[in-house]
Amino acid sequence: MESFNLNNLVRDNIKSLKPYSSARDEFSGVPADMVFLDANENPFENGVNRYPDPQQRSVKSLLGEIKGIKSENILLGNGSDEVLDLIFRVFCEPKIDNVITLPPTYGMYEVLANTNDIEVKKVYLKLDFQIDVDQILVQQNDRSKLLFLCSPNNPSGNHLNNKDIERLLNYFNGLVVLDEAYIDFSEQESWLTRLEEFPNLIVTQTLSKAYGMAGIRLGVCYASSDIISILNQIKPPYNVNELTQKKAIERLINKEAVQTEIDTILRERGTLTHALTEIPFISKVYHSDANFVLAKVDDASKRYNQLIEKGIVVRNRTTQPLCENCLRFTVGAQDENKKLIDALKQL
Ligand SMILES: *Cc1c(COP(=O)(O)O)cnc(C)c1O
Repeated sequence: MESFNLNNLVRDNIKSLKPYSSARDEFSGVPADMVFLDANENPFENGVNRYPDPQQRSVKSLLGEIKGIKSENILLGNGSDEVLDLIFRVFCEPKIDNVITLPPTYGMYEVLANTNDIEVKKVYLKLDFQIDVDQILVQQNDRSKLLFLCSPNNPSGNHLNNKDIERLLNYFNGLVVLDEAYIDFSEQESWLTRLEEFPNLIVTQTLSKAYGMAGIRLGVCYASSDIISILNQIKPPYNVNELTQKKAIERLINKEAVQTEIDTILRERGTLTHALTEIPFISKVYHSDANFVLAKVDDASKRYNQLIEKGIVVRNRTTQPLCENCLRFTVGAQDENKKLIDALKQL
């Protein structure tokens, strides 16, 4: 990575912004018997009458311990969606800058680009769902601020080649946002181990998938402390609520339970993958490093509707590039997967 200057990528209005300082920001880490008359809260205790910790220190320190990352390299958000939106707002100048996405991939990158009025350059993945690095380097220009990589990729399920990711980290002009929402289902190592090596790398993860907490909305962003402190300046002060922080802590303490569930899902993924290959109208089952399996059927919309009639909802991805007639099956519990396979056999 040649001379990298983060300041060249940050929007001017963000550089000159003075962040809101909340009551709890100004006063933290104080003795528990302190009297708090600073934030206009209701004093009667009910568990949530106080504003939550704006810096989510307990959650970050637990997460940091698990992932081997310092708190100063972590930003938490109301789901990955908020984290990604913050990244857009810090680095992308509406109507002027652009970002690069690699369809077929997670739809939120494009939605967030559109809401922020940022041009999206699309460089399709190759037929094997791997990155067309040369094409990205041709398409990028000096207004290309973000490159979104999703590994393992949704909806294809495969992980992206590490050599390609490394080449992009070395030659992409802007920041590389690597979405590792499904990393805990993959045999690949997370790129978190290489965060220090690449000042232009942002890794996002979530508690929504392997950690089984989609309902609490907790997204995680890992990056250099410089990137994290700029993101912190524009994040809403109390963006992660008290109930979410409490639930996350309970779950993160219980590492073994999470791992047991992941192991079960991986076993079920194997069983489901095998069963899908034996369905006559399924012509291809793609290799998955995630908790879902993409499969090509004869007529995706017809099969999708037939499954609905049998009370099973899957994801029809047929309109996505390279995904013609493809359905995406989430790996469920054993009885759910069995219902799916039985239903498919009956069609
Ligand atoms: C599910 C998913 C997420 C998670 O988003 P949250 O807002 O954290 O629930 C992020 N990225 C991808 C690619 C996903 O599929």
